[in-house]
Amino acid sequence: MSSVITARQADAAGAEPPARSLHSVPLDDAAEQPRLTDGFHLVLDALKLNDIDTIFALPGIPITDLTRMAQAEGLRVISFRHEQHAGNAAAAAGYLTQKPGICLTVSAPGFLNGLTALANATTNCFPMILISGSSEREIVDLQQGDYEEMDQLAIAKPLCKAAYRVLHAQDIGVGIARAIRSALSGRPGGVYLDLPAKLFAQTMDAAAGKQSLIKVVDPAPRQIPAPEAVERALDLLKGAKKPLILLGKGASYARADADIRALVEKTGIPYLPMSMAKGLLPDTHVQSASAARSYVLQEADVVMLVGARLNWLLSHGKGKTWAQDKGPKQFIQIDIAPTEIDSNVAIAAPVIGDIGSCVAALLAGIDANWPQPPAEWTGAIAERKDKNLSKMAATLAARPSPMSFQSALSVIRDQVKARPDAIVVNEGANTLDFARSIVDMYEPRKRLDVGTWGIMGIGMGFSVAAAVVTGKPVIAIEGDSAFGFSGMEVETICRYNLPICVVVFNNNGVYRGTDVNAGGGADVAPTVFVKNARYDKLMEAFGGVGVHATTADELAKGLADAIASGRPTLINAVIDETAGTESGRITSLNPSTAKKK
Ligand code: ADP
Repeated sequence: MSSVITARQADAAGAEPPARSLHSVPLDDAAEQPRLTDGFHLVLDALKLNDIDTIFALPGIPITDLTRMAQAEGLRVISFRHEQHAGNAAAAAGYLTQKPGICLTVSAPGFLNGLTALANATTNCFPMILISGSSEREIVDLQQGDYEEMDQLAIAKPLCKAAYRVLHAQDIGVGIARAIRSALSGRPGGVYLDLPAKLFAQTMDAAAGKQSLIKVVDPAPRQIPAPEAVERALDLLKGAKKPLILLGKGASYARADADIRALVEKTGIPYLPMSMAKGLLPDTHVQSASAARSYVLQEADVVMLVGARLNWLLSHGKGKTWAQDKGPKQFIQIDIAPTEIDSNVAIAAPVIGDIGSCVAALLAGIDANWPQPPAEWTGAIAERKDKNLSKMAATLAARPSPMSFQSALSVIRDQVKARPDAIVVNEGANTLDFARSIVDMYEPRKRLDVGTWGIMGIGMGFSVAAAVVTGKPVIAIEGDSAFGFSGMEVETICRYNLPICVVVFNNNGVYRGTDVNAGGGADVAPTVFVKNARYDKLMEAFGGVGVHATTADELAKGLADAIASGRPTLINAVIDETAGTESGRITSLNPSTAKKK
């Protein structure tokens, strides 16, 4: 379909009357009509010009036609049941493709629903653009009570990296170019683009419209680190007795996989992946220190952070986790954001630039004479790893009835080993904690999870995006509570027939299913759900496959069948309802459990 419309089409679409001169054109003589375009088509043309081929959306006023026209123009439109999940899908798509994921919503409530995902994307450094329709400026600014009136731009601003509004059709090209550049350049993040309803129907000359669009050149320019910063980092690393490399999701986003692996292997330094950096090197790699995590964090003398922040997930680089009292610990930090440096503890050697350029520069300084880390250090780590891994192997081999978190996850671990290209999505409390340490990853960017906020509700949105943008099988490992946040999107999964297998770890409640009402009343405790719920029936309701698994063998078969068939599947994995720790592994953040400790 052409993106050029005639004056008559513009009229039929309820467009503003075109410029007066256009009315002099005889309407029944199509050949002589001036060629016009409108806001709808300019938005789509600008996205297409920038190689954006997918939109995650929830239609409604004023963007319903935009979703229809997008499809007509050859874009893929994945339509959701709630905007938060469309937004999460856009964020995950951005992380997986290095192109900003696009989420399209209606005004006020739809915008607000999408905003959680936008803020989460920004927090996690995922590039996405939330495009929301909005009400008319004149009415909103005077607070005269428009349909879904809200000053969306003002609300979005503090929650994302950048926010723009476009009022005139001829500015759409600039608006979209600025949004793309803001989302991708430097530290990636979320961008809000406000498009008032009136804009879509504005018309302009098609040729001028085409000329007004911008193809963004080099949206994420390389940022080369200063040579002296690289030298400082190499000197520090070379002198270390107990060096450690810590890989974060910035490193996996950067797609410098081969150089990162070469850096780790040439230096011989043990490494720890943060959860979404798992698989950057296979978790079974001899230098992985994951199974000796506490030990290496406490003992290391020089730690090189590659695309990882010293936030709460790393105890801010302080305290017992790092045994800072045992002796000075020095940090090298590779990051694209200079203001990240010293945000928690002093960074002895900041290396500012994009990870690809920084790692390449470091590699250039590492030759065959590079001193390998002392054998006492690597040996002590290996010893602890062996001990912890054999302890874990015994737990994983057990087959209790009902299933434990570990027995159920051992099955998933085997399936992921057999299909290392499958993408794992993971959320929950205990389900997250156990899966992160039990399920090994073998390839980069195959694990998507709760990220920097430890957020619940990303499950189905991330799964849909992963399936749509990669075409690979997706295994969503979901706590029953976490699944509830996005569960209705199983209809979306069935509608698009996506190769997603959702495994719900069903232990009847938040953390576990055995709490009692402290007041003795008839209501169940706030953390308890309906007992023995059949989540599998939810998938069946929309034509997918439901599996009720009470044993590890049933779970293994259900998962193998799902991966082989590629059909939408939900496995209700019945877990011992007494299993599960309050707050999972972050009890220290729960005021009551922290006190009891
Ligand atoms: P994790 O949660 O895995 O520890 P974080 O999200 O805390 O990771 O940290 C990611 C870091 O990576 C951020 O500080 C971000 O600025 C940085 N980053 C993201 N992309 C790049 C890139 N291409 N080059 C350099 N740094 C990057």
